[in-house]
This record gives sequence, C-alpha cells and structure tokens, in this order.
Amino acid sequence: MAGAAEKVDYVFKVVLIGDSAVGKSQILARFARNEFSLDSKATIGVEFQTRTLVIDHRSVKAQIWDTAGQERYRAVTSAYYRGALGALLVYDITRRQSFDHIPRWLDELRANADKNIVIMLVGNKSDLQEQRAVSTEDAKEFAEKENLFFLETSALQATNVESAFQTVLTEIFKIHS
Ligand code: GDP
Ligand code: MG
Repeated sequence: MAGAAEKVDYVFKVVLIGDSAVGKSQILARFARNEFSLDSKATIGVEFQTRTLVIDHRSVKAQIWDTAGQERYRAVTSAYYRGALGALLVYDITRRQSFDHIPRWLDELRANADKNIVIMLVGNKSDLQEQRAVSTEDAKEFAEKENLFFLETSALQATNVESAFQTVLTEIFKIHS
C-alpha cells in the first residue's frame, strides 16, 4: 500500500557507482520495480528510486541513487555521495577493465562519503559465465583486503540483487538504528 498512510521509520541513502554499462541501472530496476531491459538507455540526469522494506520490525525506505551517465568522465559530484550510508560498487564480470577501475571508484567513494559507509562490491552479469574475465577468487580477495562485502549478481536473472541490497541495508540498520 502506497501513499500518505505509509509510515517510515528510517530513510537510508545508497549510491550505485562503477563504470558505464556494468548494469547499475538494471540492478536498480530489478530491485525497485522487479524489471529488466536488455536495451536500457544510458541514464540521463541524477535519479533515485525508492523501495520500502521491513528490517527488524521497522519500516526502512531505501533511497537508491543511480549515476547520470557521468561515469566515463569521472564527473560524479560530491552531492551524489553526500549523506550516502551505503554503496554498491559495481563491475561487469565480462569486462576486466571495469574491475581494474574499482580501486579508483573506492578512493572517490571513501573521499566523499560517510566514514562508516557500508560497501558491497558487486560483480554483475553472472549469467554470462562463458564470457567471464574476472575470477570470483580475485574479486573475493580484493573485497577481503578492502573490507567490503562481495556478491556476484545477475540483474537479468534476478540473482543476488535482493541479497546485495538486503545485506547493505541490514548493515546500515545495525549501525544507525
Ligand atoms: P549502467 O550504465 O551501469 O547503468 O548499465 P545498464 O544498466 O544500462 O546496463 C548496460 C547493459 O548491460 C544493458 O544492455 C543491460 O541490458 C545489460 N545488463 C545489465 N545487467 C545485466 C545482467 O545481469 N546480465 C546481462 N547479460 N546483461 C546485463
Ligand atoms: Mg545507467
């Protein structure tokens, strides 16, 4: 049930970052609306979508921000990160370069966001196993070294998208409730 009667105990801002075309917008579409599109347009303008969940009997509104197609130019502004309590740091398991850029995204995130930010490293497009260019082990090792949560997802097959957000939001809840 939506509308004026909705009671929200917490609003948590979570940002999506990572190279262009790794699947950020489709991960968000899957989480917020349970939709997926194979020919998604590059996102225009800073946007967020929300979904309200129940965590520990409390109503938590997740406000998920998606980049405005600025990924290529590293032009994501500090306003985008401001107030973010969680982040999904996304690469594409079929594109090595998108994984090699993760340390840069992490630096930018840590320089701009809350010091307690909860970060999930996400290897998306796990449905494309035959095109894999980043091993699960490499990513896991990096995540452990940097103290990040880690999951491989498929927005297309709806694999682990729910878990990725659930984990981040539950951790934020533990810290901020
Ligand atoms: P963004 O630039 O990071 O927001 O990436 P998009 O969400 O626009 O996705 C880029 C392309 O990858 C689109 O053609 C999507 O349909 C496709 N895509 C996104 N997620 C997946 C996935 O999990 N599996 C596959 N096979 N394709 C995906
Ligand atoms: Mg996008």
